[in-house]
Amino acid sequence: MFINYKSNQKALSFDDVILQPIYSDIMSRSEIDTSVDIKEISKILNIPIISSPMSTVTESYMCNSMSELGGLGIIHRYNTIDFQVKLLSQITDTSTRSAAIGVSGDYKERLSELIKNGLKIVCLDVAHGHHILVKNAIEYIRKEYPDIFIIAGNIASEYAYKDLSDWGVNAVRTSVGSGSICTTRIQTGHGMPTFNAVLECSKTRKERQRYNQPAAYIIADGGIKNSGDIVKSLAAGADFVMLGSMISGTKETPGVITTNDKGKEVKKYNGMASKAAQKAWKGSYSSIEGVSSYVSYKGTISNVINEIMSNVRSGMSYSGSRSIEELQNNAIFKIQTSASHIEANPHIFNRDN
Ligand code: IMP
Repeated sequence: MFINYKSNQKALSFDDVILQPIYSDIMSRSEIDTSVDIKEISKILNIPIISSPMSTVTESYMCNSMSELGGLGIIHRYNTIDFQVKLLSQITDTSTRSAAIGVSGDYKERLSELIKNGLKIVCLDVAHGHHILVKNAIEYIRKEYPDIFIIAGNIASEYAYKDLSDWGVNAVRTSVGSGSICTTRIQTGHGMPTFNAVLECSKTRKERQRYNQPAAYIIADGGIKNSGDIVKSLAAGADFVMLGSMISGTKETPGVITTNDKGKEVKKYNGMASKAAQKAWKGSYSSIEGVSSYVSYKGTISNVINEIMSNVRSGMSYSGSRSIEELQNNAIFKIQTSASHIEANPHIFNRDN
C-alpha cells in the first residue's frame, strides 16, 4: 500500500473554519463592492454568484433573472440540442449567453449549434474534471473556437488546477462530492470539501500568477448552505460561488409548485446523477451518484439573492474589506472545534418558539 505523505493532512470543510473579525472602518454596507471583472469577455458581474447548470435550477428564466441581479446563470445540458438552443436564444443579455455541455457523445454538434446562437461561455460539466476526455474536449474547443470562455470541472486538487489552467480553461469549478444532493463520496470514497479545494487551488493560483503562468478563475461549487459559506469561499480565494440548493425552489427554477402532504408548497430539486434526473433525461439510469428531493417554495430569486448579498456584505465588513480582493488579503481563518461550531447556532435555553 502506498500512503501519500499528505494523507495525514485534514480535508477542511466550511464548518471546520471560522473567520476572525478584524478592525473595520466601513460605515455602511453600500461602500462594499462585490463585483468581479471578467476581462476575457469584457464583462463585470456585480455579484459573484452563478446558478448551477442543473435541470431543476437553471433555464432561461433563471439566466435572465440572475443577469438582472448582476450574476450569471448557465443553461443545463440535460435536454436535446434543439431545446437547449431555444433556451439559450431566450437569454436577452447577449454578452452572457452561457450553457453547459458534456465531453462525449453529441458535444461537438451541441457546441457548434450553441455558438451559432450566440454562446459566450461554455461549461464542460462533468463529475471528474481531471480527466483525459476533458483535456481532449478543451483542446478541441480552444482550436475550433479560440475566443470562447471555458469553464470546466469539477476538480479537487492543485494538480488538476494546474493541468486545467495549462490546457486552456478560463475558470474551474472546485470540489468533488460536496453537493447537497450528492452521494459520490459515500459511493466512491473520493471527493474533497469545497473549502479545502478552493484553498488549495487558490494557493496554486497565486504561485502561478507570480510566474505569469495560466491561472484560471476559481468557482466554489457544491455544499454552500448559507451566506457565511459564501463569505468563507470568497475569502479562501474563490472569484465566484455556484449555487444549487440555496436557490432551488425559487419561482425562476424550472418545474411546477406542488403541495406536499403537510400542505406546504414545494418544488423539485434533483441531483443530476440521481435516478429521477437520469430517467427524466434519457429514460434510463446507471451509476447513480445523487438524490432527488423536494424543497420548500422560496418565492422570487431576487428576494433570496438580495438577502444573501446583504449578509455577504456584512461578512466583508467584519473583515474590514471593501472588495473581494481586500477580503482575500485580510481574511484570518481559524480552525474551529465542534464546540465552537455548536456555539455558532442559536442555543438559548427555555425559548418559547
Ligand atoms: P449544492 O449547491 O450543495 O446543492 O450543490 C450543487 C452542485 O452539486 C452542482 O453545482 C454540481 O457541482 C453538484 N451536483 C449536481 N448534481 C449532482 C449529483 O447528482 N451528484 C453529485 N453532485 C452533483
